[in-house]
Amino acid sequence: MKPAKFDYVSPATVDAAIEALVASNGEGKVLAGGQSLLPLLNFRMVRPSVLVDLNGIKGLSYIEDRGDCIAIGALTRHRDLERSPLVATKLPVMSAAMRHVAHLAIRNRGTIGGSLSHADPAAELPMLATFYDARISIQGPDGRRTIAAEEFFVDALTSCLEPDEIVVEVEFPVLDHHGSAFEEVARRFGDFALASIAVSLRRGPSGLEAARVAVMGVADTPLRLRTAEEELVAMKLDDETPERFSRVVVSKVSPNDDLHASGEYRRHLLAQLSKSALQTALAAMERAP
Ligand SMILES: Cc1cc2nc3c(=O)[nH]c(=O)nc-3n(C[C@H](O)[C@H](O)[C@H](O)COP(=O)(O)OP(=O)(O)OC[C@H]3O[C@@H](n4cnc5c(N)ncnc54)[C@H](O)[C@@H]3O)c2cc1C
Repeated sequence: MKPAKFDYVSPATVDAAIEALVASNGEGKVLAGGQSLLPLLNFRMVRPSVLVDLNGIKGLSYIEDRGDCIAIGALTRHRDLERSPLVATKLPVMSAAMRHVAHLAIRNRGTIGGSLSHADPAAELPMLATFYDARISIQGPDGRRTIAAEEFFVDALTSCLEPDEIVVEVEFPVLDHHGSAFEEVARRFGDFALASIAVSLRRGPSGLEAARVAVMGVADTPLRLRTAEEELVAMKLDDETPERFSRVVVSKVSPNDDLHASGEYRRHLLAQLSKSALQTALAAMERAP
């Protein structure tokens, strides 16, 4: 199928893009990498009156070291995140996850702003934003606001963005941790995840001092499992810890059955992934200087 008729504008600034969205009275759509939007247009699942193309706006694509966080411009492509030495050093879980995002051709075009705004519950970047407690900067007709990732994702494919707002930047706090892991199962490599977990650990003088845990594919939004983090830190570390941790993680989620997998199968996958992610993260933590 072909899209329904729409107007097209290519503004040179974020302000001009917002003006175009305001003028469309909620009927306009932002175009970034087009990897999710174009199929929706072609199937006529969305029929915007105007497409506001962000690709002509300079200065929206960058990965910047700000000391305690890495700031990423909304138009930064998935492939740039995958190949960035700064991301590899400062955001190792993101670095490990990016190669799981779709296929190379899609990663060459897809953007972080588009992925977050699309808010797919099985997409890596929304999960990473939740995991890192990222701060998402949004610009609209009334100026800029910054919102925590956990508040940004409201439901499956639904964020808190208003129709005339644009994601402009995402700040990812750097974790002062010693070991991490990202694990995912998809039907084929590059497909959306059926289940996935990210784990990061900080070593202290008397063992495990802090943990960060987030999952996706098992709820309508990515989830940071704060109580599982606390329970993990309180656990005695021995050979049984990964098994105990996996039971804790699975107890926190209740995925529904859907076209791709039953809820029970997703819980089974998450249990296996939790065990192996914790083993990997613990081994990395022990090896770390
Ligand atoms: C076959 C296939 C497999 C895929 N597999 C995966 C996968 O495994 N994991 C994964 O994470 N993703 C996957 N994707 C999605 C891909 O990562 C997309 O690139 C991404 O979700 C959307 O980014 P985009 O820049 O292409 O956004 P677009 O398609 O341009 O836009 C998506 C939505 O976000 C809005 N939008 C875009 N940018 C902004 C902004 N800055 N501010 C406000 N709104 C904005 C648009 O209006 C639209 O509603 C897959 C896509 C395809 C086609």
